[in-house]
Amino acid sequence: MIKVCKFGGSSVANAKQFQKIKNIVNSEDARKIIVASALGKADKNDHKVTDLLYLCLAHKKYGMSYEDILQVIKDKHQNVINELKISFDLDKEIAGIHDLLENKKNSDEIISRGEYLSSKLLALYLDALFVDAKDVICFDYDGNLNIEKTKEKFLPYLENNKKIVVPGFYGSLPNGIIKTMTRGGSDITGSLLANIVDASVYENWTDVSGVYVADPKVIKDPKQVAIITYAELREMSYMGANVLHEESILPVKEKNIPINIRNTNSPDDKGTMIVSTAEDDPNDLAITGVTGKKDFEVISVAKLNSASELGFLSKALNIFDNYGIPIVLMTTGIDSFSLVIDKKELKNNIYELANEIKIKLNAEDVSVYDNLSLICVVGRGMRSRKGMAGKIFSLLGENNINIKTIAQGADEISIIVGIDESDFNKAITLIYEGFIK
Ligand code: ADP
Ligand code: ASP
Ligand code: MG
Repeated sequence: MIKVCKFGGSSVANAKQFQKIKNIVNSEDARKIIVASALGKADKNDHKVTDLLYLCLAHKKYGMSYEDILQVIKDKHQNVINELKISFDLDKEIAGIHDLLENKKNSDEIISRGEYLSSKLLALYLDALFVDAKDVICFDYDGNLNIEKTKEKFLPYLENNKKIVVPGFYGSLPNGIIKTMTRGGSDITGSLLANIVDASVYENWTDVSGVYVADPKVIKDPKQVAIITYAELREMSYMGANVLHEESILPVKEKNIPINIRNTNSPDDKGTMIVSTAEDDPNDLAITGVTGKKDFEVISVAKLNSASELGFLSKALNIFDNYGIPIVLMTTGIDSFSLVIDKKELKNNIYELANEIKIKLNAEDVSVYDNLSLICVVGRGMRSRKGMAGKIFSLLGENNINIKTIAQGADEISIIVGIDESDFNKAITLIYEGFIK
């Protein structure tokens, strides 16, 4: 039986956290594979090493000195080395990063050095085997992870009796060039390795004791969920609950491996189990989660009887395709339809796009609304409970929150409402208090 344990940035923020990790992994033989993030924030004023590396790159790009930033990175690691009495040539590694920056080498490689360093130090401290992600985590040239190839490369290391530490967040292309994942990607590395070794559980160690019903930054001391399904968590993380990278769910789901969210600072807490199916127990909380995401825009197109005009919608969708803008949500009515898009997909071209829609679709009116937030209420129990949508709408309506768009997931486990950004926290609080308290 093998457990894969991923430790996030705050779990490796300083020497004290390294000691906690040692206690956790040494308390069970099964905790054989350890994935580490880059050193994260030890407190509010601290910085994540990954952010600092991005900052070095940005300074270099604009011809500004990055030496001070590199020094902060060095100090952060040096403190860990000194306090834990690890023997490690940090000067050489920092010089290596300096060299990469000066020679404008592959920027992914520079960004990956955070995970590389934290994992090297952790392996030394745990007396474990360090396996570089560049040698085992394989991408195809199209940027997709290649599970078969990763398996082939990684499995031989399992024969070693020691525990294994692998840096998260990066791997390499077929030509050996280092490639990083999207932010928070160490979760994906852990999930991929759990799949490959058929782990009994994928433990994701972080700074909270599980998945909360709502973001703790919005709701003070929110309730925790004991069990949540993969599908529910995917909805939640897609809609803003960034406790786990949404792409980390698929590799473990494929093999039905549960994910256990655990707290490095409170290791006796059972945390949250993320599983493939769970009963709709009427005693459970009515909702599993309420999350939200800001920065969306809505384009509404009005034309009399557009619902019965063949090809009307597909013409509009084609225009979005041509601009390379994916659609997040779509609602249609008899004389109009609205499309929700993520602001970061737009390159100052929203009005150009709206104009093209107006002309090509011969629409009467095309309007753009650019302050939309999406609030997503998730819960497998919504399928069996009546009146859930009605309750959400009246909670918001009675409190003067105007709902601009509504959508329900096909499997009835989520309801999404679009509201003005200024109502974001208020809406989450109302729904949380209305359903949980
Ligand atoms: P790590 O560095 O360990 O990967 P992250 O910062 O990526 O940790 O994720 C953990 C954080 O996710 C928590 O500190 C918490 O603030 C945030 N978070 C947002 N929404 C939720 C939620 N619904 N449940 C739990 N944590 C959440
Ligand atoms: N260090 C990377 C980041 O900050 C990856 C991770 O922590 O998962 O995004
Ligand atoms: Mg994370």
